[in-house]
Amino acid sequence: MAALSSCGSYVPQDDEYGGVKRAFPRRAALPRMEPGGEERTPAQVLPSTVAEPTRNTIRGRNSPDSRLAHPVGAGVERGKTREEATRLGSHAVLNSPGVPAAGPPPVTEEELMNSGHELHESYTCLLCCLPIALPAPRHSKFAPCCMKMVCNGCILASRQNENGGACPFCRTPTPDSAAALLALVQKRADAKDPVAIELLASAYFDRCYGLQQDIHWAIELWTEAARLGDLGAHFKLGGFYYHGEGVEQDMARGIRLLQHSAIQGHPESRYSLGLYEYHNRNHELAAQHWMISTKMGSERSLNEIRKMFMEGHATKAQYAEALRVYQKALEDTKSPQREEAEAFFSKCMRSD
Ligand SMILES: [Zn+2]
Ligand SMILES: [Zn+2]
Repeated sequence: MAALSSCGSYVPQDDEYGGVKRAFPRRAALPRMEPGGEERTPAQVLPSTVAEPTRNTIRGRNSPDSRLAHPVGAGVERGKTREEATRLGSHAVLNSPGVPAAGPPPVTEEELMNSGHELHESYTCLLCCLPIALPAPRHSKFAPCCMKMVCNGCILASRQNENGGACPFCRTPTPDSAAALLALVQKRADAKDPVAIELLASAYFDRCYGLQQDIHWAIELWTEAARLGDLGAHFKLGGFYYHGEGVEQDMARGIRLLQHSAIQGHPESRYSLGLYEYHNRNHELAAQHWMISTKMGSERSLNEIRKMFMEGHATKAQYAEALRVYQKALEDTKSPQREEAEAFFSKCMRSD
């Protein structure tokens, strides 16, 4: 399921591995050489220019690929402007004051390290009520009709029950065309659904649904989504402010945005903060951040702790603890239905 890339493949939260490019201080003198010559560049951390979408949409059974999410561009003329798309879908133009000029308020170190140790509730499949394994886009799909995330196990079960390609959650028939998908997302964005607004922002950034890229509008939408509480929007804006891409650079604001989402259980933000501390040579803090995201099931964070152990920056006990909590997180996401889906979708991907 890893090959779910390209526009239109959207899942409700950030892809731990492939979603937003994990960016970190490109300009700061942070890149270091890893043992063996691999550069652990800061560009792995904060979201920067978004290379891939972060949400996968469920598509109808008659779509070109009804098994899994698929590029959405096929059904609509490429390169639509914001105005054209707005006419096409709905008429949503956001009139929000946005987040405060200075961004979210700072959090205390105590709050930062003691909060957000559990995955945010948005990482739970609403049908089977199990947490979704990371990276979520590999293990779930996103229903644009109701802005709900459904795990692959429940998607397969729904299809086996011949639900006619409808959304497993709300039973709305899933559209096959990009225009219809965009209309659904736009409708939810009109209703101020923060997930939909974040999705729309990513679409404008990634040129999904046949849209022309419009970075400034994407930033406005992300700002609105963040104001309404979307953690993924915080994460992405954090990267943009940190790097000064599309906005005036404000590294402190970027970090505050990440902290704000990390304390609510956003693993990607937590991972990024770990990398930030690592590159500032605050190894103990880095290990603490990564231990938290490892506990949520972030394999990437586990690997960072392993590297720190090999470098002598983390203890054997820390690495052993990281292995333990990672395994526990993984176990918590498993079910026979999901294992069946894993095998089924892997087979589908191989036959494509
Ligand atoms: Zn499920
Ligand atoms: Zn639905």
